[in-house]
Amino acid sequence: MASGFRELAGIAASERLKRGASVVRAILRGALDLALPRLCAACREPVDGQGLCPACWSKLSFITRPYCERLGIPFVYDPGPGILSMEAIADPPAYRRARAAVRFDDISRALVHALKYGDRLDLAPMMGRWLGQAGRELLAEADALVPVPLHWRRQWARRFNQSAMLAAAVSTASGVPVAAGVLKRVKPTAQQVGLSRSERAANVQGAFRVPPEAKAAVAGRRLVVVDDVLTSGATVEGCAKALLRAGAANVDVLVFARVADPVRASI
Ligand SMILES: [Zn+2]
Repeated sequence: MASGFRELAGIAASERLKRGASVVRAILRGALDLALPRLCAACREPVDGQGLCPACWSKLSFITRPYCERLGIPFVYDPGPGILSMEAIADPPAYRRARAAVRFDDISRALVHALKYGDRLDLAPMMGRWLGQAGRELLAEADALVPVPLHWRRQWARRFNQSAMLAAAVSTASGVPVAAGVLKRVKPTAQQVGLSRSERAANVQGAFRVPPEAKAAVAGRRLVVVDDVLTSGATVEGCAKALLRAGAANVDVLVFARVADPVRASI
């Protein structure tokens, strides 16, 4: 009994030490950032005060029209203004519109990872400006931004939520406030990586909830859910459903990068 307790106390102390060490590392990294030239977030070449070098920048694939007005996925060819994709008509999402700044590829993946694991928080303002551009129409009609929440256990392990970082950057770029804490991840969902579309949907089933004390901040509001990457859309769909159930007037989705295989128009 006593030895078990000592063991537990030992583990707690070593956890504290590890967390302390990571804070020290973060401070040192901050000091080094001032002293050393910045590195390109994708290829690690030194750059001049930018997040990406010119070569990697030129490889980024920004998503522009023509795309499905509902899903925001680029069309194979331009069907004319206001046309929806067959996917949007056959299987309409709970959210109203989705927009993404860039396609998910090697360069955008490197940016997302650099932000997500806390090495490059300096990238957030740049990524937030791109999100602000991609979501201009959505943001013009929005009352508040809602970052996709992490389960508290994952947030504690990672120390911060990359979607909240992006939402804060979009807020700075657009003036639309962040509605913090209106959405909770109540189920510690498994990582979505490697799951099929239907497995992803099942994985986030019932994962998000609007706590009773946040209902007033959601009811009747026009909300934009912000996330870093959209793959199958199951996560943002789960968020949109929870917000709509709590009485949101409508929910749009704004992500930094999306998997975007071109779609065909409905005509
Ligand atoms: Zn580069």
